[in-house]
Amino acid sequence: MADPRGFLKHPQRQDRPSRPVPVRIMDFHEVYERQEKGATQTQASRCMDCGIPFCHTGCPLGNLIPEWNDLVWRDQWEEASARLHMTNNFPEFTGRVCPAPCETSCVLGINQPAVTIKQSEVEIADTALQSGYVEPVLPSRLTGKTVAVVGSGPAGLAAAQQLTRAGHTVAVYERDDRIGGLLRYGIPDFKMEKHLVDFRVEQMEAEGTRFYPSTEVGPDIAWDALRESYDAVVVATGALVPRDLAIPGRSLGGIHFAMEYLVQSNRALAGDDVPDQIHAEGKHVVILGGGDTGADCIGTAHRHGAASVTTLAIGKELPRERPEHEPWPMDPRIFEVSSAHQEGGDVKWLASTVEFLGDENGGVRALRVADTEYREDGSRGPKPGTEKEIPADLILLALGFTGAEQETLDSQLGMEFTSRGAVDRGQDYQTNVEGVFTVGDAGRGASLVVWAIAEGRAAAAKVDEFLEGSTRLPAPVKPTDRAISLS
Ligand code: FAD
Repeated sequence: MADPRGFLKHPQRQDRPSRPVPVRIMDFHEVYERQEKGATQTQASRCMDCGIPFCHTGCPLGNLIPEWNDLVWRDQWEEASARLHMTNNFPEFTGRVCPAPCETSCVLGINQPAVTIKQSEVEIADTALQSGYVEPVLPSRLTGKTVAVVGSGPAGLAAAQQLTRAGHTVAVYERDDRIGGLLRYGIPDFKMEKHLVDFRVEQMEAEGTRFYPSTEVGPDIAWDALRESYDAVVVATGALVPRDLAIPGRSLGGIHFAMEYLVQSNRALAGDDVPDQIHAEGKHVVILGGGDTGADCIGTAHRHGAASVTTLAIGKELPRERPEHEPWPMDPRIFEVSSAHQEGGDVKWLASTVEFLGDENGGVRALRVADTEYREDGSRGPKPGTEKEIPADLILLALGFTGAEQETLDSQLGMEFTSRGAVDRGQDYQTNVEGVFTVGDAGRGASLVVWAIAEGRAAAAKVDEFLEGSTRLPAPVKPTDRAISLS
Protein backbone atom coordinates (compact mmCIF):
# COMPACT_ATOMS: atom_id res chain seq x y z
CA MET A 1 0.00 0.00 0.00
CA ALA A 2 0.97 3.66 -0.23
CA ASP A 3 2.51 5.18 2.92
CA PRO A 4 0.65 3.45 5.83
CA ARG A 5 0.66 6.71 7.79
CA GLY A 6 0.12 8.97 4.76
CA PHE A 7 -3.42 9.99 5.64
CA LEU A 8 -2.26 10.93 9.17
CA LYS A 9 0.79 12.86 8.02
CA HIS A 10 -1.08 14.68 5.25
CA PRO A 11 -4.66 15.32 6.38
CA GLN A 12 -5.06 18.16 3.85
CA ARG A 13 -6.31 17.59 0.36
CA GLN A 14 -4.52 19.44 -2.45
CA ASP A 15 -6.27 19.62 -5.82
CA ARG A 16 -4.91 20.30 -9.30
CA PRO A 17 -3.93 23.98 -9.70
CA SER A 18 -6.06 26.11 -12.00
CA ARG A 19 -5.15 29.19 -14.04
CA PRO A 20 -6.40 32.49 -12.52
CA VAL A 21 -9.91 33.39 -13.67
CA PRO A 22 -9.02 36.73 -15.39
CA VAL A 23 -6.33 34.93 -17.43
CA ARG A 24 -8.19 31.78 -18.35
CA ILE A 25 -11.36 33.46 -19.60
CA MET A 26 -9.22 35.19 -22.25
CA ASP A 27 -8.81 31.87 -24.10
CA PHE A 28 -10.25 28.37 -24.46
CA HIS A 29 -7.23 26.43 -23.21
CA GLU A 30 -7.74 24.04 -20.32
CA VAL A 31 -8.50 25.62 -16.96
CA TYR A 32 -6.43 23.16 -14.93
CA GLU A 33 -2.66 22.87 -15.05
CA ARG A 34 -0.36 19.95 -14.34
CA GLN A 35 0.30 19.39 -10.66
CA GLU A 36 3.89 19.16 -9.54
CA LYS A 37 4.71 15.43 -9.37
CA GLY A 38 5.80 15.48 -5.71
CA ALA A 39 2.44 16.99 -4.70
CA THR A 40 0.53 14.26 -6.58
CA GLN A 41 2.67 11.62 -4.87
CA THR A 42 2.00 13.12 -1.43
CA GLN A 43 -1.72 13.12 -2.19
CA ALA A 44 -1.59 9.51 -3.46
CA SER A 45 0.11 8.53 -0.20
CA ARG A 46 -3.13 9.43 1.63
CA CYS A 47 -4.79 6.33 0.10
CA MET A 48 -5.32 3.84 2.94
CA ASP A 49 -5.61 0.71 0.75
CA CYS A 50 -8.68 -0.15 2.81
CA GLY A 51 -9.74 -3.75 3.29
CA ILE A 52 -12.81 -3.12 1.14
CA PRO A 53 -11.96 -0.37 -1.37
CA PHE A 54 -15.39 1.19 -1.91
CA CYS A 55 -13.83 3.41 -4.59
CA HIS A 56 -13.80 0.31 -6.87
CA THR A 57 -17.57 0.13 -6.74
CA GLY A 58 -18.00 3.90 -6.89
CA CYS A 59 -16.18 3.85 -10.23
CA PRO A 60 -18.24 2.26 -13.03
CA LEU A 61 -14.97 1.14 -14.64
CA GLY A 62 -13.84 -0.67 -11.49
CA ASN A 63 -10.55 1.23 -11.63
CA LEU A 64 -7.85 -0.37 -9.43
CA ILE A 65 -7.43 2.84 -7.49
CA PRO A 66 -5.41 1.78 -4.41
CA GLU A 67 -2.98 -0.08 -6.68
CA TRP A 68 -2.18 2.91 -8.83
CA ASN A 69 -2.08 5.28 -5.88
CA ASP A 70 0.60 3.00 -4.40
CA LEU A 71 2.57 3.03 -7.67
CA VAL A 72 2.34 6.82 -7.95
CA TRP A 73 3.62 7.19 -4.40
CA ARG A 74 6.52 4.90 -5.32
CA ASP A 75 7.29 6.99 -8.43
CA GLN A 76 6.52 4.03 -10.74
CA TRP A 77 4.54 5.90 -13.37
CA GLU A 78 4.83 3.40 -16.22
CA GLU A 79 3.50 0.58 -14.03
CA ALA A 80 0.74 2.90 -12.77
CA SER A 81 -0.20 3.63 -16.39
CA ALA A 82 -0.33 -0.08 -17.22
CA ARG A 83 -2.59 -0.71 -14.21
CA LEU A 84 -4.84 2.23 -15.13
CA HIS A 85 -5.19 1.15 -18.75
CA MET A 86 -6.25 -2.34 -17.62
CA THR A 87 -9.66 -0.93 -16.71
CA ASN A 88 -9.95 2.33 -18.65
CA ASN A 89 -9.28 2.86 -22.36
CA PHE A 90 -9.17 6.65 -22.11
CA PRO A 91 -8.10 7.84 -18.63
CA GLU A 92 -7.05 11.26 -19.92
CA PHE A 93 -10.75 11.88 -20.73
CA THR A 94 -12.15 10.75 -17.37
CA GLY A 95 -9.23 12.32 -15.49
CA ARG A 96 -10.44 15.66 -16.87
CA VAL A 97 -14.22 15.51 -17.05
CA CYS A 98 -15.42 12.81 -14.65
CA PRO A 99 -17.35 14.02 -11.58
CA ALA A 100 -15.41 11.29 -9.73
CA PRO A 101 -18.01 9.09 -8.01
CA CYS A 102 -14.94 7.15 -6.78
CA GLU A 103 -14.09 10.08 -4.51
CA THR A 104 -17.57 10.25 -2.98
CA SER A 105 -17.18 6.58 -2.02
CA CYS A 106 -13.55 6.88 -0.79
CA VAL A 107 -13.35 5.49 2.76
CA LEU A 108 -11.11 8.35 3.88
CA GLY A 109 -14.03 10.63 2.97
CA ILE A 110 -15.96 9.40 6.02
CA ASN A 111 -14.09 11.80 8.30
CA GLN A 112 -11.43 13.54 6.16
CA PRO A 113 -11.35 15.03 2.67
CA ALA A 114 -11.32 12.12 0.19
CA VAL A 115 -8.13 11.09 -1.62
CA THR A 116 -7.60 13.10 -4.83
CA ILE A 117 -8.20 10.02 -6.99
CA LYS A 118 -9.08 11.97 -10.12
CA GLN A 119 -5.86 13.93 -9.74
CA SER A 120 -3.80 10.72 -9.60
CA GLU A 121 -5.65 9.46 -12.67
CA VAL A 122 -5.04 12.52 -14.82
CA GLU A 123 -1.37 12.78 -13.81
CA ILE A 124 -0.77 9.11 -14.61
CA ALA A 125 -2.57 9.54 -17.94
CA ASP A 126 -0.73 12.74 -18.90
CA THR A 127 2.64 11.32 -17.86
CA ALA A 128 1.92 8.22 -19.91
CA LEU A 129 1.08 10.25 -23.03
CA GLN A 130 4.08 12.54 -22.55
CA SER A 131 6.50 9.67 -21.93
CA GLY A 132 5.30 7.49 -24.81
CA TYR A 133 3.97 4.70 -22.58
CA VAL A 134 0.74 4.54 -24.59
CA GLU A 135 1.25 2.62 -27.82
CA PRO A 136 -1.01 0.78 -30.24
CA VAL A 137 -1.97 -2.68 -28.92
CA LEU A 138 -2.26 -5.00 -31.90
CA PRO A 139 -4.52 -8.07 -31.81
CA SER A 140 -2.60 -11.34 -31.60
CA ARG A 141 -4.95 -12.99 -34.15
CA LEU A 142 -7.78 -11.99 -36.47
CA THR A 143 -11.16 -13.69 -36.10
CA GLY A 144 -12.45 -12.84 -39.57
CA LYS A 145 -15.63 -11.41 -37.97
CA THR A 146 -16.82 -7.89 -38.74
CA VAL A 147 -18.48 -5.31 -36.47
CA ALA A 148 -19.98 -1.92 -37.34
CA VAL A 149 -20.00 0.63 -34.51
CA VAL A 150 -22.34 3.56 -35.18
CA GLY A 151 -21.38 6.72 -33.28
CA SER A 152 -17.89 7.73 -32.18
CA GLY A 153 -18.48 9.17 -28.70
CA PRO A 154 -16.71 7.60 -25.72
CA ALA A 155 -19.05 4.57 -25.74
CA GLY A 156 -18.50 3.79 -29.42
CA LEU A 157 -14.74 4.38 -29.18
CA ALA A 158 -14.35 2.12 -26.13
CA ALA A 159 -16.41 -0.66 -27.73
CA ALA A 160 -14.50 -0.35 -31.01
CA GLN A 161 -11.09 -0.44 -29.32
CA GLN A 162 -11.95 -3.51 -27.25
CA LEU A 163 -13.40 -5.38 -30.24
CA THR A 164 -10.47 -4.50 -32.50
CA ARG A 165 -8.02 -5.71 -29.86
CA ALA A 166 -10.04 -8.95 -29.61
CA GLY A 167 -9.26 -9.53 -33.29
CA HIS A 168 -12.47 -8.44 -34.99
CA THR A 169 -12.50 -6.14 -38.00
CA VAL A 170 -14.22 -2.98 -36.77
CA ALA A 171 -15.59 -0.02 -38.71
CA VAL A 172 -16.81 3.11 -36.89
CA TYR A 173 -19.44 5.21 -38.69
CA GLU A 174 -19.88 8.83 -37.56
CA ARG A 175 -22.19 11.44 -39.06
CA ASP A 176 -20.06 14.37 -37.87
CA ASP A 177 -17.03 15.38 -39.89
CA ARG A 178 -14.74 14.65 -36.94
CA ILE A 179 -14.57 11.69 -34.57
CA GLY A 180 -15.34 11.98 -30.84
CA GLY A 181 -19.08 12.56 -30.25
CA LEU A 182 -19.74 14.92 -27.35
CA LEU A 183 -16.05 14.80 -26.42
CA ARG A 184 -15.45 16.64 -29.70
CA TYR A 185 -18.48 18.83 -30.22
CA GLY A 186 -20.15 19.16 -26.80
CA ILE A 187 -17.55 19.43 -24.06
CA PRO A 188 -15.64 22.73 -24.50
CA ASP A 189 -11.87 22.89 -24.87
CA PHE A 190 -11.47 24.63 -21.52
CA LYS A 191 -12.51 21.33 -19.92
CA MET A 192 -10.71 19.05 -22.38
CA GLU A 193 -8.57 19.99 -25.38
CA LYS A 194 -9.23 18.07 -28.57
CA HIS A 195 -5.68 16.92 -29.33
CA LEU A 196 -6.40 14.22 -26.73
CA VAL A 197 -9.21 12.82 -28.88
CA ASP A 198 -6.98 13.04 -31.98
CA PHE A 199 -4.28 11.03 -30.19
CA ARG A 200 -6.70 8.19 -29.40
CA VAL A 201 -8.11 8.14 -32.94
CA GLU A 202 -4.55 7.78 -34.28
CA GLN A 203 -3.82 5.01 -31.77
CA MET A 204 -6.99 3.16 -32.77
CA GLU A 205 -6.26 3.54 -36.49
CA ALA A 206 -2.81 2.05 -35.90
CA GLU A 207 -4.47 -0.86 -34.11
CA GLY A 208 -6.69 -1.49 -37.15
CA THR A 209 -9.99 0.26 -36.37
CA ARG A 210 -11.39 1.97 -39.48
CA PHE A 211 -13.21 5.29 -39.22
CA TYR A 212 -15.87 6.60 -41.60
CA PRO A 213 -16.73 10.20 -40.58
CA SER A 214 -19.41 12.24 -42.37
CA THR A 215 -21.48 9.08 -42.79
CA GLU A 216 -24.92 8.97 -41.20
CA VAL A 217 -26.40 5.54 -40.82
CA GLY A 218 -30.06 5.79 -41.76
CA PRO A 219 -29.92 8.27 -44.67
CA ASP A 220 -26.46 7.35 -46.07
CA ILE A 221 -26.42 3.61 -45.35
CA ALA A 222 -29.67 1.95 -44.23
CA TRP A 223 -29.59 0.28 -40.82
CA ASP A 224 -30.88 -3.03 -42.21
CA ALA A 225 -28.25 -3.00 -44.97
CA LEU A 226 -25.58 -2.37 -42.35
CA ARG A 227 -26.85 -5.29 -40.27
CA GLU A 228 -26.69 -7.55 -43.32
CA SER A 229 -23.13 -6.46 -44.17
CA TYR A 230 -21.63 -6.99 -40.69
CA ASP A 231 -21.66 -9.89 -38.24
CA ALA A 232 -22.73 -7.51 -35.46
CA VAL A 233 -23.72 -3.86 -35.08
CA VAL A 234 -23.24 -1.61 -32.04
CA VAL A 235 -25.56 1.40 -31.78
CA ALA A 236 -23.64 4.12 -29.90
CA THR A 237 -25.55 7.09 -31.23
CA GLY A 238 -25.99 8.97 -27.95
CA ALA A 239 -29.10 10.64 -26.51
CA LEU A 240 -28.97 13.85 -28.46
CA VAL A 241 -32.63 14.91 -28.71
CA PRO A 242 -32.80 18.15 -26.70
CA ARG A 243 -35.68 18.95 -24.34
CA ASP A 244 -37.58 22.00 -25.59
CA LEU A 245 -39.66 24.60 -23.76
CA ALA A 246 -42.94 25.14 -25.57
CA ILE A 247 -44.05 28.46 -24.08
CA PRO A 248 -45.20 31.68 -25.79
CA GLY A 249 -42.40 33.43 -27.67
CA ARG A 250 -40.32 30.27 -28.30
CA SER A 251 -39.95 31.11 -32.01
CA LEU A 252 -38.35 34.52 -31.38
CA GLY A 253 -34.83 35.13 -32.69
CA GLY A 254 -31.97 34.68 -30.21
CA ILE A 255 -33.35 31.56 -28.48
CA HIS A 256 -31.25 28.45 -29.15
CA PHE A 257 -30.60 24.99 -27.81
CA ALA A 258 -27.37 24.96 -25.81
CA MET A 259 -25.91 22.34 -28.11
CA GLU A 260 -26.30 24.58 -31.18
CA TYR A 261 -24.25 27.20 -29.35
CA LEU A 262 -21.61 24.82 -27.98
CA VAL A 263 -21.13 22.88 -31.21
CA GLN A 264 -20.63 26.10 -33.19
CA SER A 265 -18.14 27.35 -30.63
CA ASN A 266 -16.20 24.06 -30.80
CA ARG A 267 -16.19 24.20 -34.59
CA ALA A 268 -14.94 27.77 -34.66
CA LEU A 269 -12.16 26.84 -32.26
CA ALA A 270 -11.21 23.92 -34.48
CA GLY A 271 -10.65 26.45 -37.26
CA ASP A 272 -13.88 25.89 -39.21
CA ASP A 273 -15.71 28.71 -40.91
CA VAL A 274 -19.01 29.08 -39.00
CA PRO A 275 -21.27 31.52 -40.84
CA ASP A 276 -23.65 33.47 -38.55
CA GLN A 277 -22.14 31.87 -35.47
CA ILE A 278 -24.29 32.22 -32.35
CA HIS A 279 -22.04 34.45 -30.27
CA ALA A 280 -22.44 35.96 -26.81
CA GLU A 281 -20.16 38.99 -27.22
CA GLY A 282 -21.73 42.05 -25.56
CA LYS A 283 -25.01 40.21 -24.91
CA HIS A 284 -27.08 39.59 -21.82
CA VAL A 285 -27.12 35.81 -21.81
CA VAL A 286 -29.69 33.77 -19.92
CA ILE A 287 -29.20 30.01 -19.64
CA LEU A 288 -32.16 27.83 -18.74
CA GLY A 289 -30.93 24.75 -16.89
CA GLY A 290 -28.40 24.35 -14.11
CA GLY A 291 -26.61 21.14 -15.14
CA ASP A 292 -23.32 20.29 -16.89
CA THR A 293 -24.47 21.64 -20.23
CA GLY A 294 -25.57 24.90 -18.63
CA ALA A 295 -22.19 25.24 -16.91
CA ASP A 296 -20.41 24.74 -20.24
CA CYS A 297 -22.56 27.55 -21.70
CA ILE A 298 -21.56 29.84 -18.79
CA GLY A 299 -17.85 29.25 -19.41
CA THR A 300 -18.22 29.69 -23.16
CA ALA A 301 -20.28 32.88 -22.85
CA HIS A 302 -17.70 34.45 -20.52
CA ARG A 303 -14.95 33.62 -23.02
CA HIS A 304 -17.04 35.19 -25.77
CA GLY A 305 -17.22 38.43 -23.78
CA ALA A 306 -20.88 38.37 -22.69
CA ALA A 307 -22.20 41.51 -20.94
CA SER A 308 -23.86 39.32 -18.28
CA VAL A 309 -24.55 35.63 -17.74
CA THR A 310 -27.52 34.42 -15.69
CA THR A 311 -28.58 30.83 -15.10
CA LEU A 312 -32.19 30.06 -14.25
CA ALA A 313 -32.86 26.73 -12.54
CA ILE A 314 -36.48 25.66 -12.03
CA GLY A 315 -35.77 23.55 -8.93
CA LYS A 316 -34.56 24.14 -5.38
CA GLU A 317 -30.93 24.94 -4.78
CA LEU A 318 -29.00 21.72 -4.33
CA PRO A 319 -26.84 21.35 -1.20
CA ARG A 320 -23.07 21.95 -1.55
CA GLU A 321 -22.26 19.30 1.07
CA ARG A 322 -23.38 15.68 1.32
CA PRO A 323 -26.88 15.70 2.92
CA GLU A 324 -27.64 13.36 5.84
CA HIS A 325 -30.09 11.25 3.85
CA GLU A 326 -27.38 10.39 1.30
CA PRO A 327 -24.60 9.10 3.59
CA TRP A 328 -21.23 7.74 2.52
CA PRO A 329 -20.62 5.79 0.24
CA MET A 330 -23.61 6.94 -1.82
CA ASP A 331 -23.15 9.28 -4.76
CA PRO A 332 -25.07 12.30 -3.34
CA ARG A 333 -27.13 14.80 -5.35
CA ILE A 334 -25.17 17.95 -4.63
CA PHE A 335 -24.45 21.11 -6.58
CA GLU A 336 -21.27 20.43 -8.54
CA VAL A 337 -19.34 23.70 -8.52
CA SER A 338 -17.57 23.57 -11.86
CA SER A 339 -14.71 25.79 -12.99
CA ALA A 340 -17.25 27.81 -15.02
CA HIS A 341 -19.25 28.67 -11.89
CA GLN A 342 -16.08 30.14 -10.35
CA GLU A 343 -15.71 32.46 -13.35
CA GLY A 344 -18.76 34.57 -12.62
CA GLY A 345 -22.41 34.80 -13.53
CA ASP A 346 -25.53 34.72 -11.45
CA VAL A 347 -27.66 31.66 -10.61
CA LYS A 348 -31.34 32.03 -9.75
CA TRP A 349 -33.03 28.98 -8.23
CA LEU A 350 -36.77 28.26 -8.17
CA ALA A 351 -37.20 30.23 -11.40
CA SER A 352 -39.99 29.10 -13.76
CA THR A 353 -39.91 30.74 -17.17
CA VAL A 354 -43.45 31.40 -18.42
CA GLU A 355 -42.90 33.48 -21.57
CA PHE A 356 -40.24 34.86 -23.89
CA LEU A 357 -40.82 38.53 -24.79
CA GLY A 358 -39.82 39.97 -28.16
CA ASP A 359 -38.77 43.29 -29.62
CA GLU A 360 -40.08 45.00 -32.75
CA ASN A 361 -37.60 43.06 -34.97
CA GLY A 362 -38.72 39.61 -33.89
CA GLY A 363 -35.78 39.07 -31.57
CA VAL A 364 -35.99 38.18 -27.88
CA ARG A 365 -35.60 41.05 -25.39
CA ALA A 366 -36.60 39.47 -22.04
CA LEU A 367 -38.09 36.49 -20.22
CA ARG A 368 -41.10 36.57 -17.91
CA VAL A 369 -40.17 34.45 -14.92
CA ALA A 370 -42.15 33.38 -11.84
CA ASP A 371 -41.08 31.71 -8.61
CA THR A 372 -41.48 27.94 -8.69
CA GLU A 373 -44.01 26.58 -6.24
CA TYR A 374 -44.17 22.94 -5.11
CA ARG A 375 -47.78 21.75 -4.88
CA GLU A 376 -49.38 19.21 -2.59
CA ASP A 377 -49.89 16.71 -5.43
CA GLY A 378 -46.10 16.65 -5.94
CA SER A 379 -46.13 18.77 -9.11
CA ARG A 380 -44.37 22.10 -9.44
CA GLY A 381 -45.04 25.18 -11.51
CA PRO A 382 -45.05 28.99 -11.60
CA LYS A 383 -46.52 30.70 -8.51
CA PRO A 384 -49.21 33.20 -9.55
CA GLY A 385 -48.44 36.84 -8.74
CA THR A 386 -44.66 36.42 -8.58
CA GLU A 387 -43.83 37.16 -12.20
CA LYS A 388 -41.05 39.54 -13.18
CA GLU A 389 -39.06 40.34 -16.32
CA ILE A 390 -35.42 39.50 -16.84
CA PRO A 391 -33.75 41.23 -19.82
CA ALA A 392 -31.96 38.93 -22.27
CA ASP A 393 -30.78 39.04 -25.85
CA LEU A 394 -29.38 35.51 -26.05
CA ILE A 395 -31.23 32.61 -24.40
CA LEU A 396 -29.76 29.12 -24.29
CA LEU A 397 -31.92 26.10 -23.51
CA ALA A 398 -29.89 23.60 -21.50
CA LEU A 399 -32.82 21.55 -20.24
CA GLY A 400 -31.42 18.09 -20.78
CA PHE A 401 -32.10 15.46 -23.42
CA THR A 402 -35.18 13.33 -24.03
CA GLY A 403 -33.37 10.32 -25.48
CA ALA A 404 -32.04 8.72 -28.64
CA GLU A 405 -33.01 9.69 -32.17
CA GLN A 406 -35.49 6.99 -33.14
CA GLU A 407 -36.79 7.56 -36.64
CA THR A 408 -34.56 5.49 -38.92
CA LEU A 409 -33.74 2.90 -36.25
CA ASP A 410 -37.47 2.27 -36.01
CA SER A 411 -38.38 2.40 -39.71
CA GLN A 412 -35.36 0.48 -41.06
CA LEU A 413 -34.69 -1.98 -38.25
CA GLY A 414 -37.89 -2.19 -36.19
CA MET A 415 -35.95 -1.14 -33.10
CA GLU A 416 -37.85 -0.97 -29.78
CA PHE A 417 -37.45 1.90 -27.29
CA THR A 418 -38.16 2.35 -23.59
CA SER A 419 -40.75 4.78 -22.24
CA ARG A 420 -37.81 7.08 -21.36
CA GLY A 421 -36.69 7.33 -24.99
CA ALA A 422 -33.67 4.99 -24.79
CA VAL A 423 -32.98 2.05 -27.10
CA ASP A 424 -34.38 -1.02 -25.30
CA ARG A 425 -31.90 -3.77 -24.47
CA GLY A 426 -31.33 -6.81 -22.33
CA GLN A 427 -28.63 -7.54 -19.75
CA ASP A 428 -26.32 -8.54 -22.63
CA TYR A 429 -26.69 -5.07 -24.27
CA GLN A 430 -28.53 -6.72 -27.19
CA THR A 431 -31.59 -4.98 -28.60
CA ASN A 432 -34.74 -6.66 -29.91
CA VAL A 433 -32.87 -7.11 -33.23
CA GLU A 434 -30.50 -10.08 -33.08
CA GLY A 435 -26.86 -9.11 -33.40
CA VAL A 436 -27.58 -5.42 -32.78
CA PHE A 437 -26.29 -4.09 -29.45
CA THR A 438 -26.55 -0.66 -27.85
CA VAL A 439 -24.24 1.23 -25.47
CA GLY A 440 -23.73 4.55 -23.75
CA ASP A 441 -26.28 7.35 -23.74
CA ALA A 442 -28.32 5.65 -26.52
CA GLY A 443 -29.24 2.82 -24.17
CA ARG A 444 -28.79 4.45 -20.76
CA GLY A 445 -30.13 7.96 -21.39
CA ALA A 446 -27.97 11.07 -21.07
CA SER A 447 -25.25 10.17 -18.58
CA LEU A 448 -21.49 10.52 -18.12
CA VAL A 449 -18.30 9.79 -20.02
CA VAL A 450 -17.23 7.23 -17.41
CA TRP A 451 -20.45 5.25 -17.86
CA ALA A 452 -20.09 5.47 -21.65
CA ILE A 453 -16.59 3.97 -21.52
CA ALA A 454 -17.60 1.33 -18.98
CA GLU A 455 -20.60 0.31 -21.09
CA GLY A 456 -18.48 0.32 -24.27
CA ARG A 457 -16.09 -2.15 -22.63
CA ALA A 458 -18.88 -4.31 -21.24
CA ALA A 459 -20.87 -4.42 -24.46
CA ALA A 460 -17.71 -5.34 -26.39
CA ALA A 461 -17.43 -8.43 -24.17
CA LYS A 462 -21.03 -9.38 -25.00
CA VAL A 463 -20.50 -8.81 -28.72
CA ASP A 464 -17.33 -10.93 -28.60
CA GLU A 465 -19.25 -13.68 -26.82
CA PHE A 466 -22.03 -13.45 -29.43
CA LEU A 467 -19.51 -13.81 -32.25
CA GLU A 468 -17.11 -16.35 -30.73
CA GLY A 469 -19.18 -18.25 -28.18
CA SER A 470 -16.95 -17.09 -25.30
CA THR A 471 -14.91 -14.04 -24.37
CA ARG A 472 -11.91 -12.97 -22.32
CA LEU A 473 -12.86 -9.29 -22.45
CA PRO A 474 -13.84 -7.66 -19.12
CA ALA A 475 -17.44 -6.52 -18.54
CA PRO A 476 -17.31 -3.94 -15.74
CA VAL A 477 -21.00 -2.94 -15.71
CA LYS A 478 -24.46 -4.23 -16.55
CA PRO A 479 -27.03 -2.04 -18.37
CA THR A 480 -29.08 -1.74 -15.17
CA ASP A 481 -26.16 -0.73 -12.91
CA ARG A 482 -26.40 2.69 -11.26
CA ALA A 483 -24.29 4.68 -8.84
CA ILE A 484 -24.50 3.37 -5.26
CA SER A 485 -27.91 4.32 -3.90
CA LEU A 486 -30.22 3.17 -1.13
CA SER A 487 -33.09 2.31 -3.48
P1 FAD B 1 -22.12 10.72 -27.72
O1 FAD B 1 -20.89 11.26 -27.10
O2 FAD B 1 -23.34 11.58 -27.72
O3 FAD B 1 -21.78 10.28 -29.21
C1 FAD B 1 -22.78 9.82 -30.08
C2 FAD B 1 -22.27 10.00 -31.50
O4 FAD B 1 -23.13 9.29 -32.41
C3 FAD B 1 -22.27 11.46 -31.98
O5 FAD B 1 -21.00 11.80 -32.46
C4 FAD B 1 -23.29 11.48 -33.12
O6 FAD B 1 -22.95 12.39 -34.15
C5 FAD B 1 -23.21 10.06 -33.60
N1 FAD B 1 -24.42 9.62 -34.33
C6 FAD B 1 -25.71 9.75 -33.93
N2 FAD B 1 -26.54 9.18 -34.83
C7 FAD B 1 -25.75 8.70 -35.82
C8 FAD B 1 -26.02 7.99 -37.03
N3 FAD B 1 -27.27 7.67 -37.40
N4 FAD B 1 -24.97 7.65 -37.83
C9 FAD B 1 -23.68 7.96 -37.47
N5 FAD B 1 -23.39 8.62 -36.33
C10 FAD B 1 -24.40 8.97 -35.51
N6 FAD B 1 -20.03 13.85 -19.02
C11 FAD B 1 -19.04 13.82 -18.09
O7 FAD B 1 -18.71 12.74 -17.58
N7 FAD B 1 -18.37 14.96 -17.73
C12 FAD B 1 -18.65 16.17 -18.29
O8 FAD B 1 -18.04 17.17 -17.94
C13 FAD B 1 -19.68 16.22 -19.27
N8 FAD B 1 -19.98 17.39 -19.87
C14 FAD B 1 -20.95 17.42 -20.82
C15 FAD B 1 -21.21 18.61 -21.47
C16 FAD B 1 -22.20 18.68 -22.45
C17 FAD B 1 -22.45 19.98 -23.14
C18 FAD B 1 -22.97 17.51 -22.75
C19 FAD B 1 -24.07 17.59 -23.76
C20 FAD B 1 -22.70 16.32 -22.13
C21 FAD B 1 -21.70 16.25 -21.16
N9 FAD B 1 -21.38 15.05 -20.52
C22 FAD B 1 -20.37 15.01 -19.60
C23 FAD B 1 -22.06 13.79 -20.89
C24 FAD B 1 -21.18 12.95 -21.83
O9 FAD B 1 -20.61 13.77 -22.81
C25 FAD B 1 -22.00 11.84 -22.47
O10 FAD B 1 -22.60 11.06 -21.44
C26 FAD B 1 -21.15 10.92 -23.35
O11 FAD B 1 -20.49 11.64 -24.35
C27 FAD B 1 -22.03 9.84 -24.00
O12 FAD B 1 -21.22 9.11 -24.88
P2 FAD B 1 -21.85 8.29 -26.08
O13 FAD B 1 -20.70 7.67 -26.80
O14 FAD B 1 -22.92 7.39 -25.59
O15 FAD B 1 -22.60 9.35 -27.02
